[in-house]
Amino acid sequence: MFDQTTGPRVLLKNLREAMAEPLGPQERLDRIVQQIAAAMDAQVCSVYVRRADDVLELFGTYGLKAEAVHQSQLRVGQGLVGTIATAGRPLNLADAEKHPAFAYLPETGEELYKSFLGVPMKRAGRPLGVLVVQTTETKVFDELEVEALETAAMVLSDLVASGDFKGLAQQGTQLDQSGPLSQTGIRLASGIGVGEVVLHEPRVVVEHLFGDDAQVEQNRLAKAVRNVRASVDEMLTRNIDRTEGNSTDDHIEVLESYRMFANDRGWVRRIEEAISQGLTAEAATEKVSQENRSRLLRSSDPYLRERLTDLDDLSRRLMKELIGDTGNPAAEGKNFVIVARTMGAAELLDYDSDYLRGLIVEEAAATSHVVIVARALGIAVVGQLPGFVARAENGDRVIVDGDDGSAHLRPADEVNENYVERVKFRAKREARFDALRDLPAATTDGVNIDLLLNAGLTMDLAQLEHTGAAGIGLFRTELQFMIASRLPRLAEQKEFYKSVIDAAGDKPVTFRILDVGGDKVLPYLHPVKEDNPALGWRAIRFAIDRPGLLRMQIRALLKAADGRRLKIKLPMITAVTEFDQVKAIIDKEVKAQARFGHTLPSEILLGSMIEVPSLLFQLDELMQRADFVSVGSNDLFQFMAASDRTNSYLSNRYNPLSRPFLRALREIVRAADRHSTPLQLCGELAGDPLSALALLGIGYRAISMPPASIGPVKELVRSLELATVSQTVNAALDEPIGGRTITEMLTDFADQHGIPL
Ligand code: PEP
Ligand code: MG
Repeated sequence: MFDQTTGPRVLLKNLREAMAEPLGPQERLDRIVQQIAAAMDAQVCSVYVRRADDVLELFGTYGLKAEAVHQSQLRVGQGLVGTIATAGRPLNLADAEKHPAFAYLPETGEELYKSFLGVPMKRAGRPLGVLVVQTTETKVFDELEVEALETAAMVLSDLVASGDFKGLAQQGTQLDQSGPLSQTGIRLASGIGVGEVVLHEPRVVVEHLFGDDAQVEQNRLAKAVRNVRASVDEMLTRNIDRTEGNSTDDHIEVLESYRMFANDRGWVRRIEEAISQGLTAEAATEKVSQENRSRLLRSSDPYLRERLTDLDDLSRRLMKELIGDTGNPAAEGKNFVIVARTMGAAELLDYDSDYLRGLIVEEAAATSHVVIVARALGIAVVGQLPGFVARAENGDRVIVDGDDGSAHLRPADEVNENYVERVKFRAKREARFDALRDLPAATTDGVNIDLLLNAGLTMDLAQLEHTGAAGIGLFRTELQFMIASRLPRLAEQKEFYKSVIDAAGDKPVTFRILDVGGDKVLPYLHPVKEDNPALGWRAIRFAIDRPGLLRMQIRALLKAADGRRLKIKLPMITAVTEFDQVKAIIDKEVKAQARFGHTLPSEILLGSMIEVPSLLFQLDELMQRADFVSVGSNDLFQFMAASDRTNSYLSNRYNPLSRPFLRALREIVRAADRHSTPLQLCGELAGDPLSALALLGIGYRAISMPPASIGPVKELVRSLELATVSQTVNAALDEPIGGRTITEMLTDFADQHGIPL
């Protein structure tokens, strides 16, 4: 029977002795598995080591047939062992055969055994193998037994990482996972970035597992915990001071939950217990942190799962107290690429953008905040590369290709050479676009097209000059709010808007009223949990219900304009009556400012975005009311196609360059013409040359796009005769659906007429 009080300590003591003895690697491994089996009261203990080719190979066993060693192999994801390696969590089964993933390996003789407990072997987050115990009886192992096996797995991981098992590997197989790795995910921002890896979440490597004196370790822990608590308290006080008077109670609530974790007795007590079993304070912290991870990842409560980030951060702080700063060695003076599991927009701005060349982020979608900021920085971004972080090491060479969505870690020579060519090719293209900067964006038959920028951050402003854009067609004011940790004050908002208007000089700027909600969540402002946030309490709906915030933003814009022209547009209008409601609030604010004797803008133009399909059936009413309208193609398409814009499974399913969507866009042009209401279109669609060709064809004359698209679209505009394009596109739209697609027709048309795409 597993002794609950002395079991873990005795096991750790025995393992420590086995590690210290002058044994050969196989002998040592055999001794270790035997000791684990004995301590756990199990008939079998086996170690599967993960090879570089992602195969888990049996390296040592007590209880299974000896001839199975090095013969039994499972791919990651295959069988129970492979499942544990993929999920990174234990499997604890009373009867292994009943599990759907069970894969029978006849050479092992495992049919004699029923219960199965397997835990992942990890070191500093890297998956290195799986440790398993089995018994002849059907039983579920209790929590303390699971923890004891996890501790043993830590010790074994240390052995694997130290290279002790290298000599045991069969000829032709490699354990070392430091070879080249190429993976393809999704394209998030175009461009090619080459540099050294900088891991966003630094990997903490615990050097000393076994503590010599438990009391010394307990004292080290107590001191570190005191310091972490004090720093969390300090952070909380600072935030309360800073946000006083603002509606940020929810932000404080988040921080309070953080403090609750820091003071959680259970968390610290479990670390103390691990120390008393013989671990150092840092090894104990790592062990408990791994346990918390697997426990919270299993939880179906999304709130608890989210709190994992808080707990991870607290563990990192504690580790920093115990073993010193493990901060990022942001390669000074060298080009670098950030590799992260997840990342916030503000965190990206903490890096030195002079040398930042790219970003690889395992969990992100095209409209994630961090991606929007990365685009503004002009760096290449690739996402959804599971397991990439675990294989990367600080200082490794990496290439991130935002044009085809691939990333190459420690690339082989041929890959490197190929990229040298591609970078040269891109540089030539850039030079061609630069040469167009001061030339008009006019078609060969003399029609001027307004090519405008989508912007939202200070660093975007330089792009006005750099690209030669005619103005800013979409200024996403929420970005300032997204990168702040609290609500920007009136004066801060005003200063920011003023700097935008100043930088634009004579060029027009269209500010969009705060568009929060959907995927743009501000924890301190908009904390509600919604089942369908894209269809939820967002943008203008939120502004109407919280008019104080809207009024503050209007005041800031009025002051910033300081007698100049002000253009504002409203996001996510669903009914024209909402437009009226917001206009009334704005008019009231303007009158109030006038009463106080403040200088008003020379002219105020209030526009509406068209992002919700219901507006397509109120076009005449809308055109009469609004000073201008602006199509938000990202949202309008997502709602028309009922297709979540952030969902990568759907990203290629429906095509905006198709008859239904383009016909709807053409109706908007016709309505705008009927009422002589100025019209523009913003969103990612206008930045794709082929789509821009279609938009020009159906009558759009002002299109707003990401900065990197201005050059290619200007080249396209200058090469085409608009009359022919209009005729071709309109005729194509009138054809019945089911024949040649618009994409095929336009690609052929561009080929025949020498239009660069
Ligand atoms: C849009 O929806 O097309 C748009 C421009 O707004 P955003 O992408 O910021 O939602
Ligand atoms: Mg939108």
